[in-house]
Amino acid sequence: MRPFTMNVVQDMREQNILALEHAKRDNRKVVGMYCAFAPQELALAAGAIPVSLCGTRHEPIAAAEKILPRNLCPLVKSSFGFAITDTCPYFRFSDFIVAETTCDGKKKMFELLREYKPIHMMHLPQGTDRPAAVAWWLKELEILKERLEENLGVEITRQNLREAIKLCNRERLVMKRLHEMNRLDPAPLAGLDMLTAIWMKGFNVDKEDGINLINQLIGEIEEIAASGQSPFQPGAPRVLLTGCPVGIGSEKVVRLVEECGGAVVCFESCSGIKTMENLADEDEDKDPLAAIAECYLKIPCSVMTPNPGRFELLGRLISDYQVDGVIDLTWQACHTYIIEDVNVRNYVKDSFGISSIQLETDYSNSDLEQLKTRISAFIEMISGR
Ligand code: SF4
Ligand code: SF4
Repeated sequence: MRPFTMNVVQDMREQNILALEHAKRDNRKVVGMYCAFAPQELALAAGAIPVSLCGTRHEPIAAAEKILPRNLCPLVKSSFGFAITDTCPYFRFSDFIVAETTCDGKKKMFELLREYKPIHMMHLPQGTDRPAAVAWWLKELEILKERLEENLGVEITRQNLREAIKLCNRERLVMKRLHEMNRLDPAPLAGLDMLTAIWMKGFNVDKEDGINLINQLIGEIEEIAASGQSPFQPGAPRVLLTGCPVGIGSEKVVRLVEECGGAVVCFESCSGIKTMENLADEDEDKDPLAAIAECYLKIPCSVMTPNPGRFELLGRLISDYQVDGVIDLTWQACHTYIIEDVNVRNYVKDSFGISSIQLETDYSNSDLEQLKTRISAFIEMISGR
């Protein structure tokens, strides 16, 4: 049984575009962001609307490849393609863009984007094992605050920052609660629906509305779970998806796993639970910018070296979600995730004795049959564990 609220969630992208148009007419500012490290609290505290600009569709890639090299991650090409073809309303409406020095492809792509929008580049430390890393990131947040104030013509107060922290924490908590519904066995929500609901949060013009909608969805899922219903066949093997971010348009692996009889019960990537785990400190005595800096720097992305947090998180999730197998999805030419795969797969095997598979692909459908064959064999292997 599928929750009725999923129909509303699915329509949210279109609804949010309309809401964004209204907001722009009312002179609200929009801040576009491409990465989980972009601190949304600062945009909110500036009275602006933060929106996600991460490209998850194949369509704009051909245009991007006229400028960018073809052997680049599809996420970078899709994001750039949307911008240069003016086919993403969220990019069009953005008054200011926050970028970060994460992977090479992204940071060099941002240099080209300067031609289209005002961009501020934050310099992300490359690891968290140095005592100076948090201090460095805090300084970057202070510079971003100044740039937002100059560009948007506002003052970002400590009080506004504190309120934004509380709002973002509530959003993280509700999204985590939703995600944790699939710790139940059988899982009550299809992986594709879970992905849709989580991905949608990046486009919410009003975060309060988004939080209320997810609470409504959770209520419905609780009823489905209480009646013992599930979208999956009894005994469907439980899969954890880790690796590069996935969204609607780039969900082919999730779709194939579920078509092959698996249940994607956990999304570890930064489009999943990775960004819901850490809350910013709400203590009134704490400097709010420092609280935000500490919270974001804990995101265990493979662009960090070393990246122990990813393994600690993976371990917890494999146990909590009773995972039978792990799929490490890496986008072609995403060097950091592709290289980290070796350690991920060794860790999963040595610590939990469960199987894993790496799937390297792009946003096109050219390898669907090949992927289906590999996924089907993997699901069969982990069935009946
Ligand atoms: S995978 Fe890492 S660099 Fe890419 S969007 Fe997520 S947090 Fe940012
Ligand atoms: S998926 Fe990898 S290469 Fe692509 S933008 Fe994210 S970190 Fe960079």
